[in-house]
Amino acid sequence: MVARRTLSSSGSSPKHIPGTAVVDSPETTATAATSTAWWTSPGPVYYNGRHSHADEVLLGTVLDSNRTELRNAVRLFAHDFIAPYAAAIDEANRFPREQLWTELGHLGVLGVTTAVAYGGLGLGLVEHCLIMEELSRASASIGLSYGAHSNLCMMQIDRHGRPAQKEQLLPPLCSGAWIGALAMSETGAGSDVLGSMRTTARQSKRVTDAGSVRSGWCIQGSKMWITNGPDADVLVLYARTPELEPQQAVSAGHATKSNEATALKPSVTAFALQTAQLGSGYRVAQKLDKLGMRGSNTCELLFDSVWVPEDAVLGEPGQGTRVLMSGLDAERLVLSAGPLGIMQACLDVVLPYRPIGTFPLMQAKLADLYGALASSRAHTYGLAASFDSIRLQSGDAGANALSPADRPDSQLRSFRKDCASVILQNAERATQCALQAIQALGGNGYVSDYPTGRLLRDAKLYEIGAGTSEIRRMLIGRELYQAAHPQQNASEQ
Ligand SMILES: Cc1cc2nc3c(=O)[nH]c(=O)nc-3n(C[C@H](O)[C@H](O)[C@H](O)COP(=O)(O)OP(=O)(O)OC[C@H]3O[C@@H](n4cnc5c(N)ncnc54)[C@H](O)[C@@H]3O)c2cc1C
Repeated sequence: MVARRTLSSSGSSPKHIPGTAVVDSPETTATAATSTAWWTSPGPVYYNGRHSHADEVLLGTVLDSNRTELRNAVRLFAHDFIAPYAAAIDEANRFPREQLWTELGHLGVLGVTTAVAYGGLGLGLVEHCLIMEELSRASASIGLSYGAHSNLCMMQIDRHGRPAQKEQLLPPLCSGAWIGALAMSETGAGSDVLGSMRTTARQSKRVTDAGSVRSGWCIQGSKMWITNGPDADVLVLYARTPELEPQQAVSAGHATKSNEATALKPSVTAFALQTAQLGSGYRVAQKLDKLGMRGSNTCELLFDSVWVPEDAVLGEPGQGTRVLMSGLDAERLVLSAGPLGIMQACLDVVLPYRPIGTFPLMQAKLADLYGALASSRAHTYGLAASFDSIRLQSGDAGANALSPADRPDSQLRSFRKDCASVILQNAERATQCALQAIQALGGNGYVSDYPTGRLLRDAKLYEIGAGTSEIRRMLIGRELYQAAHPQQNASEQ
């Protein structure tokens, strides 16, 4: 595999802050995207676009020549065109859509797991994680927006879309003409997203200008914390469908008649929506002023009697829970590469910092940073490679195979706790690494001339977004207990 765009670069070197050994080479400095006023002059870059610490853990395991080529192309792009602007993105809290998004499309990474027929690369989760890590190393907020687009939004359309939906939505999402988002959480419906969801979709007919009657759905409610929401052209949205519950929940495959408690669970339907077609009832509310991940735009989305046609349903009506659950494991795994990039960025800034290398206690800090990164990296890519190899063994192709939750197979079921575990560990380690990076730089670590404060603010998000550490621990503990007590589980069902 070769990324589509040959990267070339030239131009002025990033700023150099005295006291640091900024490792940058003249041929890998950024010139792209200086067109708008807020997009200020490039800042310092702390790493060499051709090197990464703890790379060795991947050699001979997952890094074959194609993946190395892909990773190096993304690394160089991120080093040249993203890292010099990471501080400006954070400070302005602006997403550089015009400057970056179509460039990422040209590079080919926006639809990494999307089938080639729809404009993607048709690759697997190892590649997806490599890209996520490299983008997050340069700017965690760009990495987060990338993950929401390529993973939370596109992979669900890949998996559950009908051919017509894929033909319409995926090519512009792959090229970077469009941006995708996942609209699931609500105020009061985060950790308990299904149980507490209040946004509804009710069946509704509409008379067209030509006088014919079209079936569809009327969406009412709001969605909160939506990454890429202010810029989104496509939304994967979940809404309660009360008309399908509880009786129809049985026929929709939600529940069995013998299990009333399950039958009373809300029926949820997934939709793939093009925001330009939603009319005036759809509104982007306030953009959120966040602690970290600034520049990855987050907002509330409002739906006031928004009518959408029948064919906007993703999967089948009433089957949204299944659609949602089928993506969770891959989502956790791919997002776990975000904290990897942050940990790498911590080492990038600490290692060249001249005063510390000779103090034994500071060397211990370097050892801890390195150990955290190396073990997290081995865990993430080992799991991603297992996912991908099961996909290949089963003869499945493309992203449709990346849905272990759909499979009864116990091997695949065990991925659930592993994917929760990898993001739990990586997220908490990244926060700890950022704290250690601040400490290692002393006063310089505490001022905004250095990126350490940003790294801490960005890292913390991964302990909250896409499920909190508490919920991940509950899930892992439950899965372990159930696996250890299968007879008890059977008698409880
Ligand atoms: C920057 C950002 C980006 C996001 N992007 C998206 C997105 O793109 N799309 C989307 O749909 N959502 C998104 N989210 C929402 C995110 O998934 C939720 O914030 C997350 O699931 C937590 O939900 P909550 O904020 O409602 O917290 P709550 O569920 O209210 O939790 C509050 C606290 O209580 C704890 N808690 C809750 N339930 C339990 C329990 N049963 N047992 C023990 N402790 C519990 C939690 O761990 C947490 O510490 C984003 C959030 C953020 C901050």
